Amino acid sequence: MEYRRLGRTELLVSAIGVGTCQLRLVPEKQAIDTLLRSFALGVNIVHTAPDYGNAEEVVAHALRYTDSKVIVASQGYDLNGNNHGPASYFERLFETTCERLGSDRLELYGIACIEHMEYLGQNVWGRDGMIEFLLKMKARGRLGSIFCTTHGSPECIRRLVTSGVFDAVMIAYNILGYHLNSYAPQPDRPVESLPRNQQEIFPLCHEHDVGLMIMKPLGGGLLCTSKAFPPRHNWQSTLGATAAGDMLRSILIHPEVACVLPGTASVEEAEENALSGYAPVALKGATQRRITEAVTNLRTTVCSRCGACDALCSQRLAVSSIFWAGLFHLHPGSVLEQPDNIEYFRQHASLESICSTCPDVTCLCPAGIDIPRSLATMHSQMVGLMRDGLIPAPDSHKGAICGDDTFGARIVSKDIPKAMESRQTYLCRLHVENTGERGWLPQNREHQARVALGIFVDGRRTQTFEVTQDVHCGSRWHFLFEVTPPDNARRFCLCLRLLGEHQNFSERLAPILVSEEIVVEGAAESGPAPRSFLRRYLGVGGESRAAQVFMKIGSMVKRSRERSQR
Ligand code: SF4
Ligand code: SF4
Repeated sequence: MEYRRLGRTELLVSAIGVGTCQLRLVPEKQAIDTLLRSFALGVNIVHTAPDYGNAEEVVAHALRYTDSKVIVASQGYDLNGNNHGPASYFERLFETTCERLGSDRLELYGIACIEHMEYLGQNVWGRDGMIEFLLKMKARGRLGSIFCTTHGSPECIRRLVTSGVFDAVMIAYNILGYHLNSYAPQPDRPVESLPRNQQEIFPLCHEHDVGLMIMKPLGGGLLCTSKAFPPRHNWQSTLGATAAGDMLRSILIHPEVACVLPGTASVEEAEENALSGYAPVALKGATQRRITEAVTNLRTTVCSRCGACDALCSQRLAVSSIFWAGLFHLHPGSVLEQPDNIEYFRQHASLESICSTCPDVTCLCPAGIDIPRSLATMHSQMVGLMRDGLIPAPDSHKGAICGDDTFGARIVSKDIPKAMESRQTYLCRLHVENTGERGWLPQNREHQARVALGIFVDGRRTQTFEVTQDVHCGSRWHFLFEVTPPDNARRFCLCLRLLGEHQNFSERLAPILVSEEIVVEGAAESGPAPRSFLRRYLGVGGESRAAQVFMKIGSMVKRSRERSQR
């Protein structure tokens, strides 16, 4: 692994780091394995945040299993509405990170999406604000270096870099020039520009000796096929044979970059990403040509949300927002980053494609995207996903409310296989909306408002998952759980119930969110077969050589018995 100096922090960081935003979407064991594999391959910097679900806790947990010295770059923010007073919530987050990591001192700590905090008018720069707190911690020796993440405009980032406060910054860059979360320009907000980040901010960071960390190196999943969250599209022809490693190397070519931190959520991704920090940085001619071709294809087929066509539609469609919403649904790894209002059927409520019957095609894309065709194709994909329950439906097709006016929920989307292979474990997701008057308030225990999801297999509760953040009426929550079919079952009943503390978590009173018969494929006809025996008692998978030999012997014995019975 190559190690680079992170500007004036004097920290030596691995060229490849780990972004942890997606770890909340995978089982904890997978998350920890992913981190440990990264550390074993030389990664020594992890970026995390308290609003990435339990990612910071998982990082702290993983660190207990390794001797590697890892730099945890965590960050904080303040509560909305606290625009003048002391940034006490930010201070609490700093202390919580210290506690989690079991240290009184952090090497690197920062402010999350600082331009957004400024936009909200929060106390970033003022008296008792976030920056004053960080400088105080640094002066006391409780903090090594200060960084911030930002999706701000180049002008905004220039101001941050030259302020003298930040020892490092984390900004977005990739060779595509935009990412899944790039949004269309708004009248009152200057917009992020990845090309200008490279042209102007890279040399500026070098000049001011500010460490440069790169996020969104894979375009949020647009630039290559995610392994942890296979996308719901087939862009293979557009992407060509792009590999994450090549994309990462194309950024490491820039000597001003200290490290690149791709979101990583599987061991396979951890290995591919880390290895790109070992290989020679220069890309071979053929690889470079392939990448250039893939990027050109993407730019002419995948909307960048430049907003140039938004005022052109004769039917007043917000074209860039429709594309944006659709892209989120096609990339399930980004489901938690999607703003609720950028839901596909909130942008295009009709189930019929408006573009397909448009009487007056006035839209035009300077990047060359065929807007009518692309929107019609995306629409049929969205209708298909909606009918499968995988993405939120329009108001006209919303599901029924489970429970009552006080304590109830509605399913927003559900990703549970209708059939499962025997002895396989399946990751399932349930996105629900709190429709009751009662908030799900784990932070306010005096109201007895804790809420959990009970997973019942054939009537027996097998797992329980508590809601861990406040979910008020109208807000939503994601549950993530694994299901393994019962041994030798041909089918089984999967039932999901909402358990409330105010009902003493009574199963009898709990509203039923899901009750489904799941077909089990490949279940044994009766009793454990030789293959099942091998799997269960010898711990072999059937595909190993030893298992094959045992199975062959088993079937020879079985055939010989059958012959003798005849
Ligand atoms: S379709 Fe083209 S013009 Fe419209 S927002 Fe997307 S990239 Fe811009
Ligand atoms: S084809 Fe679609 S995007 Fe273009 S003008 Fe018609 S409705 Fe608007």
